[in-house]
Parts: sequence; C-alpha cells; structure tokens
Amino acid sequence: MTQFMLDMLKINAVNPDDGGRGEYERAIFMRRQLEEIGMKVTQHDIPDSRVAEGVRVNLTTVLEGEDRGRAIWLAAHLDTVPEGSREFWATDPYVPVVKEGKIFGRGSEDNGQAVCSILFTLKALKSLGIKPRLNLGVAYVSDEETGSKYGVIPLLAKGIFKPTDMALVPDSGSPDGSIIEIAEKSLLWLKITTKGKQVHGSTPEKGLNARRAAMKFASQLDDILHSKCPDKDPLFDPPPSTFEPTKSETNVENVNTVPGLDVQYFDCRILPKYPLDEVMKQIDTVRKAVEKETGATIEVVPIQREENTNPTSMQSPIVQKLTSALRQLRRLEPKPIGIGGGTVGAYFRRKGMDTAVWSTLDDMAHQPNEYCRIENMIEDAKVFAHIATS
Ligand SMILES: [Zn+2]
Repeated sequence: MTQFMLDMLKINAVNPDDGGRGEYERAIFMRRQLEEIGMKVTQHDIPDSRVAEGVRVNLTTVLEGEDRGRAIWLAAHLDTVPEGSREFWATDPYVPVVKEGKIFGRGSEDNGQAVCSILFTLKALKSLGIKPRLNLGVAYVSDEETGSKYGVIPLLAKGIFKPTDMALVPDSGSPDGSIIEIAEKSLLWLKITTKGKQVHGSTPEKGLNARRAAMKFASQLDDILHSKCPDKDPLFDPPPSTFEPTKSETNVENVNTVPGLDVQYFDCRILPKYPLDEVMKQIDTVRKAVEKETGATIEVVPIQREENTNPTSMQSPIVQKLTSALRQLRRLEPKPIGIGGGTVGAYFRRKGMDTAVWSTLDDMAHQPNEYCRIENMIEDAKVFAHIATS
C-alpha cells in the first residue's frame, strides 16, 4: 500500500480550476491498477477543453455481490488542491516521503488515503475469492475540489448510481474514526451588488452613496436571516445556521470619493429544515425595503447554491453497517454529525442515496506538509471489507 501511494502521489493531479493540469494521468494510472487486480473498468470521459487531453476522467467498477440488485459505492476523488506556498513544506509536495509511519505529499490524505484503502479492499476480496453481500461499486472521480462539474454531477446525470444504492465517502473524518457524517447544511453564497451615484467626497448630496446603502442592506439582512432561521440542531457543529458577511470588493481607490458601486458577499450555511426558496424570499423582501429607503439599486445573485434537504438516517443500512464494523473492529461507539462543508456525499444524498461520510484521519487536507498515516490506510481498508461482507 505504501509503495502504491508513493507511485500515485508523484503524479501531479492539481485541479485545473486551481491552475493545475488535472487528474487525467492519475486516472489512467488508477485504471491500470484496477485492471491489474482483475477488475473490469468503465471510463467516463467528461469534455474539458482546458486540459491537454481534452477530457476529465472518472472510473467506475463493480465487484459482483451475492445480491446484485443493490450496490454499496465507495467513492474517492483523484484531484487535489495546489500545494500553496512551498516555503511551508519541509519536503517537495510532489515527491512523496515516508517518515515515522506517515506518507507526506500533496493529496496523501485528501483523498489519496481513501483511493488506496479502496483499491486494496477490492484486491483483498478478489484474491481471497470473497463475494461481497451486495454489489461493491468503486467510483474514482474527478473535480471534487472545485464543484464536481466534471465528476460526480455528470455521473449522477448519466444514471451510474441508483437512488436505492448507498455510498460511503471516505473524505472527512476524525483521528480515531469515531465520527460519521450523515448530513450537511445547505450552502448559499450571495453576491450583492449595490448601485448608487459616484461623486466627490465633499458633495455627497449630489450623488448616492452605494456603500451606505450596501451597509444598511447587509446589516438588515444579517438580522432578518438570523431571526427567520433561529433553530439549532445538535447534530451539526456549530448547531445553528450561520450567515456571515465575508468578502467586500474594492469600491473606490481613494478616501475622498463617494462610491457609486459596492460589491459584497455573504457565506450562509443553513440547516436542512429551512428551504432555500424561503430564505431567498426573505432576502428579496429586505432587498426591496432597502432599495425603497435608500434609492439605490440592489442585486442579489446566489453564486453558489446547494440545497441539502436529505440527511441520511442513523437507521439506514450504510450507517448501521459502518457502526457495527467500528464496534467490532475498533471497539468504539461512533457519533453521527452534520458538517458545514461539502463532499461528494451531498450529491449522492440529493439523489436519494443513503450516504455516510467517514474515514480515519488527522485532518491534514489542504495544509502544507499534508500526510496520511499508513496505519489508517490499512485499518480503513479493513472497515470497508467488513462493510462489504456484512
Ligand atoms: Zn477531499
């Protein structure tokens, strides 16, 4: 497993949205790995003119189970984020190094560890001639880091995964493996453009200060969103919905000009019980009121909108299988949680698939000196095999 990781991690697979060359070469390498252990692989090419090969590659393969009517999918992503500032790395991010039971390199934990554990689960089952209970599907997908437009989204549209299938996504977790993520908040990112009239700072009465109108709107929006979505759900950390004014674009370069244009953003992470259409209606009410009050024009555009209304039940078979694997193999009692961020698990859940996001990791994703623990790769593979055969 360690040698496999060293071979895979040296193939750069930085996402093209982040200026990388993409995961094509790594995907072809993975296709060979799967074929070497005797799997029949389906390659799904999604066109992307920005990469040299013209396509982004996704791979699926299925190990037939005793019951072929349903599948458990193990899904991991092949792309990585860039290394960030090299000065923070003790070793070359693309020359993986083994040290003290860890493998260092970009993508080692996110999501290389899962890619490796899944491959070796298949390899072990194949070489021992063990048939899984249900079909065991493996999906190695592209483009997870920047929205899955060339990955899980087109695969779901093609009908590769059935709503009655279930999924385990090893792309988030905790150091002892006790956390199972079964829900995600809905995500809403707003771009708010406020237009007034730009004039000299000494004669504001001749213009219309877009900044003042924008501040009013932001402040009222902040209040109304919090008061309309007040509930807390202890499944989530943090338990309430969050509505954060974040980025603010430069309006004018100098202090003595009254800005005629203001662009600001909100990052909202909303409990699944609040439908986003309702939230958008509240936003529109405030928008109209502030337009009327100030005379400015305000435009609100959701630049990211992901509704997650379908949490996976604790009683679902995938969570039950995972829970019993963890009890038996590790003697621990897992804790279900909801998270505020995204994995491909959200897309599976929206399709209606019961999905658990789980793995054992130190949470080194996207950091300099990213590593994965060799022990975690091995132990997680045992959990996958237990789930497949239970
Ligand atoms: Zn990841």
